[in-house]
Amino acid sequence: MKRLLEEIINECSHYTKLGRVASYIPELQKANPDNFGICVIDKSGEYLAGDYDKPFTVQSIIKPLILLLALMDNGIERVKLLCGVEATGKPFDAFNYSDLALTSEHINPMINAGAIALCTLIRGETHTEKFERLLSLARTLSGNPSLSVNQEVYLSEKETGYKNRALAYMLKAYKMIDCDVDELLDVYFKACSVEVSCRDLARIAFVLANHGRLPDADRLLIPAEYARTVNAVMAICGMYDGSGEFALNVGIPAKSGVGGGIMASVPSRMGIGAFSPALDPKGNSLAGVKALELLSSKIGLSIF
Ligand code: GLN
Repeated sequence: MKRLLEEIINECSHYTKLGRVASYIPELQKANPDNFGICVIDKSGEYLAGDYDKPFTVQSIIKPLILLLALMDNGIERVKLLCGVEATGKPFDAFNYSDLALTSEHINPMINAGAIALCTLIRGETHTEKFERLLSLARTLSGNPSLSVNQEVYLSEKETGYKNRALAYMLKAYKMIDCDVDELLDVYFKACSVEVSCRDLARIAFVLANHGRLPDADRLLIPAEYARTVNAVMAICGMYDGSGEFALNVGIPAKSGVGGGIMASVPSRMGIGAFSPALDPKGNSLAGVKALELLSSKIGLSIF
C-alpha cells in the first residue's frame, strides 16, 4: 500500500500546478501549492506518502463533525427539522433559497449555510463551550489531543467572512436560527481554522468507516447509526457541486475543504486523508481528487 500511495503521489503531482490556492480568506493564500500528501488507515495499519504530516486548516471538513455532534446532542429528527440532506448542486457558499422563503429544504449540512445553522444545535452554555465540545470531538476521533486553532487563519476569516455573515443573517431573518450571529459565527470560524494533517483526517474517516470504532481499540467512540448518517450525507453532497462527478469517478463518501484537505471514508474498509492546497474551480483539492480517483480505480474502492 505504501508503494502504491507513493506511485499515486508521483503520478498526480503535476496536478498541483493546475489548481489555485484559495485566496478569499487572505491567510490561506500563504499555502504552498506544491504540498501533496496522503494517508490511508485500514485494519492492517497506517500508510503514508508525500506531505502527510504537513499541517493545514480543516475548513469545511469540520462540517461532518458539526453534523455528528448535532446528531449526538439532539437526535436525527431535531437535526432534520433544521437542516435537510438533499444536494443543492450549488457552490458551498451559495445562497440557495426561493423568492418566498428559506427553509430546511434549501440547506444541507455540507454547505456553509447548513453547517452554520447546525452549530446552533451543539450543546453548550456559551459559544466557547460549544466550540470546545466540537474541538474535543475532533481530538477524540483523530486520537490527536493537540489539535488546535490556527489563530492567523481564524482571525483572517473572521475579518473577511462577509458571505458567511450574510448567510447567517438570512438564516436569522427566516427564523431558522435565533441567536447572536457574531457568537454563532465565532464557533464556525474557529471550527474551520482547526489545524490538522492527512493522518488526523484518515483517523477520523476510519472511525466513520468502521461504524464508530477506532482501528486499534474496540471502544465505540460514536454511535454506529450516526457514523452511517454522516457517511450518507458526505456521499450525497460532501464535494459540493462536484459531488456527482466524484461519485462516478471515486465512489466513496468524502468531504473537502478549501484548505486543500479531503477526508474520505470507505465504509467497513478504510479512512483516507489527502492534502494538496491547489483547488479546482469548485473549491476541491485538484490533485487530491485525482489521487483518490487513481486509488479508487487501482484497488476498487467505489461502493456503487
Ligand atoms: N471556512 C470556509 C468558509 O466558510 C470553509 C469553506 C470550505 O472549506 N469550502 O468559507
